[in-house]
This record gives sequence, structure tokens and C-alpha cells, in this order.
Amino acid sequence: MGVEHTVEIPRAEYGIVGGSGTLSSDFPMNVQGEDVKIEADGLHFETPYGISPAFRFFSVGEKTVLTVKMHGWRSGVTRADASRQVFWVFRAAGVKRILSEGGVGTVNRLLDIRDFMIPDDYLDMSMRKDVMLDGRYLLVMRDALCPELRKALIAATKKRFDGRIFTRGTYAVTDGRHFESPAEVAMLHGHADIVGQSMCPEVYLAREIGACYAGLYFTVNYGEGIKVWSHEDMSNIFYDDASMIGEILLETIRNVPAEDRHCECLSLRKETLLKDVYNKESAKG
Ligand SMILES: [Zn+2]
Repeated sequence: MGVEHTVEIPRAEYGIVGGSGTLSSDFPMNVQGEDVKIEADGLHFETPYGISPAFRFFSVGEKTVLTVKMHGWRSGVTRADASRQVFWVFRAAGVKRILSEGGVGTVNRLLDIRDFMIPDDYLDMSMRKDVMLDGRYLLVMRDALCPELRKALIAATKKRFDGRIFTRGTYAVTDGRHFESPAEVAMLHGHADIVGQSMCPEVYLAREIGACYAGLYFTVNYGEGIKVWSHEDMSNIFYDDASMIGEILLETIRNVPAEDRHCECLSLRKETLLKDVYNKESAKG
């Protein structure tokens, strides 16, 4: 895949990190809406971590959005750098609110496939905990999934989907790409409700850039040892439900109050107490 050019980063209020829900679709082109307008497409930006993946820049009414298909590993780019590229661009664009979506496996035995969950917490079992942009902040991970954005996501999901919607829960993050073994799923029981690979390090990077972050997750398979699932079910969900997920994301953006944020997300990013260390390091460099 060749990169033809890089361009100036446009100002955007919203970021969307697409997952398996919108990956198969031409989001937001697949979603009806007279207020949706594509402003620019196929935007690759230069970042300190390499050339970014392609972004699409669009507007929903008066609101501006940068969307990227984050899911999927690009050869020659580490997962950590891919995440840094995306969040470096979001920061440069002035993004204040970030929505994520993706398919997940079940851990909680009460869940079925085709349930939605808007989690309110996470458990990072990945090995990538040092992924940051510049590390200048102390990141308090209380209410890491923004209550204000979650509220808007829940309302939009209820409006569009008449199946089961779980409005809280814990997302366990693993490295992938492979799925979890029965022993790993058994270990997560009681600690998490769903398992996937797309919330970390994104949730840390969002806090680092001072943006709100929340996600919408659709269960596409059962955790091993819970119930046998079929690849056919998963691929049907992947292709059939993408436009619904896209509609929910757009509706969420429409519903979020345009005025200032009322959450604590920005104030939970503190100045580091290790400032002297950082100053010395940068003086050396
Ligand atoms: Zn927030």
C-alpha cells in the first residue's frame, strides 16, 4: 500500500477509532444522514512515529470528525506505533472526544452474541503499558470511560437497537491477534465481562491528550470454554451489522452536547511529579 502524500491536519472535535464493526463498511458513507458530509478522504499524515494510516474527515451537522480504521495490523508497524500515530494526529487536530467500537468475545456467562456493552471499566492484560506520546502527565484512570460520552452512546444505542444493551461492565484487554485460551477465559471470570484487543493503549492515550473516550462493543463470539461458536456467525455479524454500528456512532455525535464538557476527564490528567527528571532528560537530549 503506497502512501502518495501527506497533508495538513484539519481541526476536528471528534475522533472515531473504528473496529470490526465498521471495518467492513464504508463508514460513514454507508449510513443515511443528510447532515453527513465527507470533507476529505484518504488522508495520511506525517507523525514522529511514522506515516499514519488513512483518515477520513467528515462533518455531522456543525460537528467535525476524523475517523480511522484502527483494527488490523499493518505489516512493518508495531501496534504501539500504530496507536501513537493515531493519537498524535488526534491531538494535533484538537480532538476532544473519541469514540471507539469493536467486536468482542464474552467472558460473563450471561452474555450472548449480538449483545451490546458500553463498558465503564477495563482490565489491561496486554503487555504494552508503556505506550505514550511524551509521558509528561500522571494519568489518573478513574472514570477512564467518560460518563458523559457513555451516556450519549447508551441513548443512541437504545434508539437504534432493540436487543440487549449492557450499560456497564469491564472490558479485559489482551494482546492478540489470536483469541484467548479456555484457561485464560476462566482466569478472567469474575474480573471482566468481555474480552478484546482494542481498548488499550487507546484509553491511556486519550487521557494523555486530554480527550474523553468511550466505546461501544458488540459481542461476536463466546469466550472459549463458555459455549461453542461458529466463524459463520461472526462473519455474518461483521458484514450485517456494520451499518447499524455506524448509525449509532453518528447519532451519538449528534446527541453529545455541543457546549463544554461536564466530565472530569481533562482534570484527571495531572502534571507529573517527575518534572525535574524530564527536564534533565530533555536538557541532555
Ligand atoms: Zn469526558
